[in-house]
Amino acid sequence: MDQDQALAELTELTELGNRFHGGYGIGKAAKWLVDRLNAVGLTASRMPVALPGWHPGATATVTVTHPWEEKLVCWPMLWSNGTRGPVTGRVVFLGNQGIWGDSQLWKRLSVVDDQGSVLAFLHVRDKGPAAPQPLPSGSDSTVPHLSISQWDGAAIIDRIKQGETVQVEVNADCRTTSDMTSDNVTVTIPGSGTGRVLVCAHYDTFWNTPGAYDNGSGTIALLNLARDLSANQPQRTVDLAFFTGEEWHLGGSRRYVDEVGSERLQELDFVLNIDGLGDSDHIELASGPEEFEQLVYSKIRASVERTRASTTVATRFPPTKGTDDMSFAVQGVPTAFLTFNNWHKLHQPDDTPNAGIARNIAWSVPVVRDLIETLDRPDRLSHVDFL
Ligand SMILES: [Zn+2]
Repeated sequence: MDQDQALAELTELTELGNRFHGGYGIGKAAKWLVDRLNAVGLTASRMPVALPGWHPGATATVTVTHPWEEKLVCWPMLWSNGTRGPVTGRVVFLGNQGIWGDSQLWKRLSVVDDQGSVLAFLHVRDKGPAAPQPLPSGSDSTVPHLSISQWDGAAIIDRIKQGETVQVEVNADCRTTSDMTSDNVTVTIPGSGTGRVLVCAHYDTFWNTPGAYDNGSGTIALLNLARDLSANQPQRTVDLAFFTGEEWHLGGSRRYVDEVGSERLQELDFVLNIDGLGDSDHIELASGPEEFEQLVYSKIRASVERTRASTTVATRFPPTKGTDDMSFAVQGVPTAFLTFNNWHKLHQPDDTPNAGIARNIAWSVPVVRDLIETLDRPDRLSHVDFL
């Protein structure tokens, strides 16, 4: 697959609409994937995934009313409830908040009335523009939770630290709903020899984004890996999974793990997760156990040196919370996660297809194929916990 082909397919996928769990576009995307997998002689299956429903609503505003006046860019956090009309209160700086476990360290503010009762929470992103993320388990579901940018958060906190009173008006009509369903799409390519691996990418998005980088890119890479594997039989048996519900605390991959059962998980030599082939020139890896992580790191570095020497590679151990490989890691399955991170495009309306993303899709397919063929079965992971 070349870069132009990758761009054409990514554009087609994103033009189906956003792929928000429970929304209209994700059903179209599932069919689009199944049709393309079946067209090369594979038999794709669907695995329905029901998750707690949520609707973003039509309104979400945070407006500073004192000591200056400004309407801030904001997004409701997933599973937040709304206000019933606008509410106004004083902002209190509470401290740090881990999002996706400890993967991102945000700041948390409350908006309180004259009696000190909480009217809303504001979540300040660690870096970049406001972006919706799922709320940590146990968040107060009776009040709205809205994400604001790093910069707006810093401006508010600055004033509070100087002893000033900052007032904001909050209005949001997002709401939880009954369960909603979308499908994991899976396919298996039998190997000529022994061993079994799983390669996955989530194809769902948030409601506010075309999700080209996150994660249309991994989806197109996985689709083209499927074509390559069907044309050139692998040694190992390869399970491919296009997950839904990644943005919903990994709901799709967690469902998959439950469905296939522990015997199949034990059979898997390792899991490779492709999430976010952005248009940057910087690769980030996260994997475990540590010997496996070092092996993946050296293989990727060797591929980079051969084909794109200017690209930098960073590696992280242990595996990161907040990506689908964690659903397998907590079951002891060795995992590796590959991304070209574009944090400023994450969950943004302007996460649209471009040549840089297409280049990184085209580059990643043979690199992942090589990992499937050449990495030995590592030891199991132990003592991994969840979000
Ligand atoms: Zn993602």
